[in-house]
Amino acid sequence: MAESQYTIANDAKRCVKCGLCVAFCPIPGVLEVGPDGHPAVVDEAACVGCQTCSGNCPKRALTVEAIGDATFDPYADEERARPLAKERQEHLGKLQRSIMESLGLRWQPVAVSLIKADELLPEAPMPTENLRFCQAMMAARRGASILMPPFRHSCPDGTSIFGMTGVPEKLATGEIYVLFHKVVDAEAAARMVAERPTLAPKSRRATYVAPLAKTVREPDVVVFTGTPEQMMWLCMSMSYYDGHRFDFAASGFNSMCVEAVLLPMERNEPNITFGCYGCRAATDIGEDMMFMGVPTDRLETIAQGAAELAKKAIPDSRNKIYVEPIM
Ligand code: SF4
Ligand code: SF4
Repeated sequence: MAESQYTIANDAKRCVKCGLCVAFCPIPGVLEVGPDGHPAVVDEAACVGCQTCSGNCPKRALTVEAIGDATFDPYADEERARPLAKERQEHLGKLQRSIMESLGLRWQPVAVSLIKADELLPEAPMPTENLRFCQAMMAARRGASILMPPFRHSCPDGTSIFGMTGVPEKLATGEIYVLFHKVVDAEAAARMVAERPTLAPKSRRATYVAPLAKTVREPDVVVFTGTPEQMMWLCMSMSYYDGHRFDFAASGFNSMCVEAVLLPMERNEPNITFGCYGCRAATDIGEDMMFMGVPTDRLETIAQGAAELAKKAIPDSRNKIYVEPIM
């Protein structure tokens, strides 16, 4: 019989019996929900040490520790994707600098790619600790490039909504949001879940985020961080040429994964988000900051429109030209 290379332990005092760890384990038969509702270790020797279970435990109740020098590194010998052509990378860098200068943005726009199941991974660093997707996003706006397969994610919502795993039943029904007091009852939870997009299970293998100027992949979506005033100018820069009004969807649930990334991807339209309880609790997002995800093909229009607005409209507005002088 094979020997265990990892030990799995559950802190029953912390564990709320949500079952997410069991649902997220990619190796059948390692964990199951025990008769007392806590996770039970059935076949420890089959555990590969990926930490998808412990990383996605909302209470940090589960731990997986290597026995000896066992390590989990499934991509060590895998070929990586060719990076974006140099000219395209330089062009995206120019767009980033132009938009940031025109609007006075403090934070770098973040290029987001959801790597499909049949695609090669880009050459980019993986974090040594599990992170929430929103934490990776906030690090990317400061300059970090981060590649995260599902076993490096630590938000069960983001991990499953992005199609890197299946969706555990308690997330699919919304039951978990009642358990954590995020909605009043099962009906409200079910509606919230039904109104958000979710990618097909196992359709994606990793998320990749990087500052737009540094991305090595053509992004699916670009996410801007800014004040409400800067978001207004982003809208106006896109409306500058066609007068289009936007129809945004925001809820305070699943801000970065759904509202900033999946909705712009699915609708091919920009979307704003105010952040959610998860990303505001897990990152240093300022109270005065919000976000907008835009499809990549809008960047040219934004850069051109913002440059036009920066000639007169933006400085006039910031100089409060219509405010009466105080007598
Ligand atoms: S995910 Fe964490 S809290 Fe939920 S059952 Fe597993 S150990 Fe308990
Ligand atoms: S470390 Fe990976 S293989 Fe082991 S129990 Fe957790 S999810 Fe399953």
